[in-house]
Amino acid sequence: MIVLGSTGSIGVNTLEIAKKFNIEIEVLVAGKNITLLNEQIEAHMPKVVVVADEDDISKVNHTKVYAGQDSILKVIEDSKSDLVVNALVGFLGLRPTLTSLACGKRLALANKESLVACGNFIDSSKIQPIDSEHFGLWYLLQDRTMDKMIITASGGAFRDWDLDKLKHATLADTQKHPNWSMGQKITIDSATMVNKIFELLEARWLFGNSVSKFDAIIETKSLIHALIDFKDGSTTAHFANASMQLPIAYALDVNMDESILGHVDLLEVGSLEFKKIEVARYPVWQIKEDLLKNPIKGVIINAANEIAIERFINKEIGFMDISKIIVETYEKDFVIPKNIDDVFALDEEIRAIL
Ligand code: NDP
Repeated sequence: MIVLGSTGSIGVNTLEIAKKFNIEIEVLVAGKNITLLNEQIEAHMPKVVVVADEDDISKVNHTKVYAGQDSILKVIEDSKSDLVVNALVGFLGLRPTLTSLACGKRLALANKESLVACGNFIDSSKIQPIDSEHFGLWYLLQDRTMDKMIITASGGAFRDWDLDKLKHATLADTQKHPNWSMGQKITIDSATMVNKIFELLEARWLFGNSVSKFDAIIETKSLIHALIDFKDGSTTAHFANASMQLPIAYALDVNMDESILGHVDLLEVGSLEFKKIEVARYPVWQIKEDLLKNPIKGVIINAANEIAIERFINKEIGFMDISKIIVETYEKDFVIPKNIDDVFALDEEIRAIL
């Protein structure tokens, strides 16, 4: 298989599962962490490797190394593998998603920005999502009439902070996630609740044919990942310990029948706590309902979010300005994309005006 983003949090877990399942790795794609990439090359012996920058090619211990985004697309097109794991971060992951699907590959998709920005033009029936919430929903699906799909949020690093302190939060503060260890961007997205907005959009594109209502609540221990309300009044919930290896294992092999995690011990857990997602703490939540009615506008919040995060990381804006920029950009008038080219054009337009 092909692993895009092999040196990231999802990429590393994917390679562990690949080793467990004896899956051969044809291509590894990484960014700048060449030390880890070289270790992965030694362990998995890929046929081809791609890195972000030309300057790093000579540092990679492999004879077939390419660089840059066009090379990622080219190696997907030239590959024999029928499975691609897209664990790249950000809008950069969209073209590889589109190329993988155009080549008829099976796509295990962690790169949620692909569906957020372009879900209207992607055939989601060819996708197995690598996200604990969508995996949970998929696991709960039954041939009974569903009323609503609910995903859970941890609340991120600032769930219990005083509201007054939030505007002074630093990048280091955003990274202190209570339950999950993930890459830098998604951990910021968890602190702003953008991640849950993205996941609702993903759920809408993945399961929108089966159900029309989607929502999210906070479950502070991240042991329940998804719930489904059925028409008959039943609610089912997916419990699993917080590890991405379970969704990854099923994304690599839908008929998976291995032991991946220990069970949740409810007596040890003792109690669970659920909370509403409040707009005062998570201002992006105010656009949730409108966005679910107009999911095609996901490209707008994705571009605004990426620009705002870059500025926050460069200390040009404060933490609360991320949500402010997203909401203000969302409220502007843009021409709604009618095709994939329009999605890329709108993404570019938003980045240019911000
Ligand atoms: P990371 O930041 O940990 O990893 C991102 C990967 O992309 C790294 O391998 C990085 O390389 C690579 N990369 C970045 N820029 C380039 C580039 N220009 N060219 C080639 N490779 C590049 O992110 P995560 O693993 O946390 O997340 C990946 C995706 O999965 C995101 O979309 C996220 O929202 C989603 N996701 C993550 C979850 C998690 O638990 N982490 C859960 C569910 C979804 P390098 O590090 O070498 O620079």
